[in-house]
Amino acid sequence: MATAFIGFGSNLGNRIDFCDRAVTLLGLLPHSRLEAVSSLYETEPIEDGAALGPAWFLNGAVQIETNITPKSLLEVCREIERALGRDQDNRKGPRTLDLDLLLYDDLVLKETDLTVPHPRLHQRRFVLAPLVELDPERHHPVLGKSLRELLDRLADRSVVRLLDPQPNSRYGSRPACSPPPIPSPHA
Ligand code: ADP
Ligand code: MG
Repeated sequence: MATAFIGFGSNLGNRIDFCDRAVTLLGLLPHSRLEAVSSLYETEPIEDGAALGPAWFLNGAVQIETNITPKSLLEVCREIERALGRDQDNRKGPRTLDLDLLLYDDLVLKETDLTVPHPRLHQRRFVLAPLVELDPERHHPVLGKSLRELLDRLADRSVVRLLDPQPNSRYGSRPACSPPPIPSPHA
């Protein structure tokens, strides 16, 4: 199994609901196990050529153990974006949901429609903050630095803050933060 990290973001409509649905669908992938889900972050739109809506983004990331190949995983992400109503004709506009394949084990891949690690991962606070929450010591396979180091040295000064309160969710933020299982009376 490979360890994949997928980032999600929404700045249109019921943003919490779109993020929650995306996580639910990612949790249903075959040959895969949803390992961890980050908190939700409210993030200031950054200037990256996209025509942005008035709302801030909600962003987060998930960690998935999977046998799905990176290419198929990107296709699945596109399917989920479509299912949740992303405007395919104006992809750069405000989006109900954006899914990006951020990391896939230590794979380094540069193809026309898929670059792994995600080419802007290390420049974006809204990507690094949830990733650091999930696995701070994981190394970026090209830059050779841990995610925590990348976040600490980041030039991006855009605001990224924890959404407060966090929505009630079926997902714990990290496995280590989950409450211990309730012992069965018959154990
Ligand atoms: P962005 O996420 O940068 O705002 P899009 O979601 O429209 O914009 O993606 C732009 C293009 O990036 C897509 O056509 C996709 O094929 C390509 N792409 C390359 N690498 C990745 C990746 N690791 N994850 C997601 N998309 C990627
Ligand atoms: Mg994208």
